[in-house]
Amino acid sequence: MNEERIYDLVILGGGPAGMTAAIYAARAKLKTIILESNITGGLVNATYTVENFPSYPSIHGMDLMEKFRAHVDSLEVEVEEVCDIDRLELGGPFKRVVTDEGTYAGRAIILATGRKPIPLATPTPSEQVHWCAICDGMAYVGKRVLVVGGGNSAFDESLYMLSIGIEHITLVEEMPRYFAAQATQERLFSCGKAVGHTSTKVADLIVENDVLKGAVLKHTESGDTSTVEVDGVFVFLGQHPNNELFKDQLELTEQGYIRPGQDMGTGIPGVYSAGDINDKPFRQITTAVSDGTIAALSAERYIRSQGNVC
Ligand SMILES: Cc1cc2nc3c(=O)[nH]c(=O)nc-3n(C[C@H](O)[C@H](O)[C@H](O)COP(=O)(O)OP(=O)(O)OC[C@H]3O[C@@H](n4cnc5c(N)ncnc54)[C@H](O)[C@@H]3O)c2cc1C
Repeated sequence: MNEERIYDLVILGGGPAGMTAAIYAARAKLKTIILESNITGGLVNATYTVENFPSYPSIHGMDLMEKFRAHVDSLEVEVEEVCDIDRLELGGPFKRVVTDEGTYAGRAIILATGRKPIPLATPTPSEQVHWCAICDGMAYVGKRVLVVGGGNSAFDESLYMLSIGIEHITLVEEMPRYFAAQATQERLFSCGKAVGHTSTKVADLIVENDVLKGAVLKHTESGDTSTVEVDGVFVFLGQHPNNELFKDQLELTEQGYIRPGQDMGTGIPGVYSAGDINDKPFRQITTAVSDGTIAALSAERYIRSQGNVC
């Protein structure tokens, strides 16, 4: 596709926020497209069990996102997955998204690009470093893994990995204490298959012929190093906002998040934001869905106020 395609609304990101916005936009008869750099579903695809989304007391994250997607598809919203976006042009009456495939122009745009995991910084890279136990844990059944991070995600994902048959977990936290709930810490360390080290960071990975053999650990206070034999590494160090495409065009918080108005407007006419990319105290599926709703309804109001709906 080389020509420019025109839409009422372009939504960047197909997580809970983006897909909810698409549902509202389609029902408002706006010609809408979701542009997604990966597959739709976002962070929830990597969540083993969601237990706080109303109407499903417990549901696998990927199953929930399949239901979102089926709803979007039933309304015949266009979705382009795995598109490589070169740049955004947010000024002017049409917001342009320039991709490797061509240009998508929208009378309004919703930025719903969410967050991505903070990477592990080591001199030696390895293919056996992962950020999602549900996605990649099965490859390590019967093997030993290193978990990096001491928050709820690190502990929850460790418990999940033991439940699927991972042999042993070494968990390291750079700070002097863990941040996960006490009960979760106790569950992990009482099972006899996990050891934890605080004030410890990963100094390097030991890789031979492209295969991970172990990790070099360093005590942050004493500087002492030791090695641990592991077949895989799972990193849970938190998340960074996905703001690369628009960080030079919008005013962001110090942490790189968008601070929208009550209508999810960003300050640029026709540009709205929704979900985890927004500066807010609670990042959950329900709050992303709420933002997506408000952003779509605000975009609809804006587009109609400009006339010329496609
Ligand atoms: C480990 C973990 C467990 C969690 N568990 C729960 C839970 O149990 N319950 C709950 O309510 N919440 C949970 N959350 C929070 C929840 O996942 C998020 O709040 C929610 O996914 C945010 O939705 P979103 O649409 O804003 O962003 P995301 O889900 O991050 O989706 C953003 C989408 O945008 C895409 N994207 C990024 N950059 C671009 C780009 N440049 N162009 C196009 N597309 C792009 C991404 O690929 C992604 O699909 C959890 C989060 C984590 C990290």
